[in-house]
Amino acid sequence: MTADCKLSKISDHAYCLPPVKEHDRPLLGVVAGSRATLIIDAGNSTNHAHYLLTELTNLAIARPSYVVLTHWHWDHVFGSSAFEFEIISHKKTKAYLKEMRTLDWSDSALDQRVKEGSEIAFCRDMIKLELPDRSQMMFKIPDISFTSELEIDLGGVSCQIKHVGGDHAEDSSIVFIPEDGIAFLGDCLYEDIHHGSPRYTLNNIQYLSDFFRCLNADEYYLAHDKRSMTNSDLISFFHELLLIGEVVDKFGKDKERIKKFLASHNNSKNCKEFDGDLVDSFINGLD
Ligand SMILES: [Zn+2]
Repeated sequence: MTADCKLSKISDHAYCLPPVKEHDRPLLGVVAGSRATLIIDAGNSTNHAHYLLTELTNLAIARPSYVVLTHWHWDHVFGSSAFEFEIISHKKTKAYLKEMRTLDWSDSALDQRVKEGSEIAFCRDMIKLELPDRSQMMFKIPDISFTSELEIDLGGVSCQIKHVGGDHAEDSSIVFIPEDGIAFLGDCLYEDIHHGSPRYTLNNIQYLSDFFRCLNADEYYLAHDKRSMTNSDLISFFHELLLIGEVVDKFGKDKERIKKFLASHNNSKNCKEFDGDLVDSFINGLD
């Protein structure tokens, strides 16, 4: 592993292992208190999980007591069988995992699910790449589950696990560390990529925007972004999404009117050009 794949300290009590795009490994978080250590997301394989455990040993961080799963997607949960401690998730995540445990994960079964439309080609290809041998794959079902939120005191620092939902996955939860002013977001700000073309819906973006305005953390860590977001980055992110979402809501699928409106808004505000892909995502979200 290269130096940029090392576990590094990001605040008084938290650490992060950066994402690896080539294997779709998400960012993994660690919060260490005087009494216990908590991990955010289990990784996309037992190799990924073991790599994190080795990094914890290298930095002399106490062996973890808990792992929180931010949502059910394979890259966040397949490493869970490497951990011999309490697994925490939202109730819906637990239900998804129970279902996933009954599925056949062989190459032919994955190919068949892609053909039927119940799996996407990108995940199939990444699963084959990260886990060429899945014959011994095990699913651990969470020991502790919650519906709205759960707070864990690790000794001198606490983790507030909050369900937020959103377009990417209805079970998405975040982990907020109030003492350090940081939050691990999993994939909750990303589009839904599991139902055809990427999609955003205005309702979900409005909900998330209100939620994060109230949370008011200093720094946010998304699971597939190498760079964290400050509070002002997040405000700009929602500002752009809400504007595009509201224009699409007003003009429907009439792309010409949408683009014309956004271009004139752009000129009057003298700001950067709007992302055409985001317009498409909100149009896809209308169906
Ligand atoms: Zn995801």
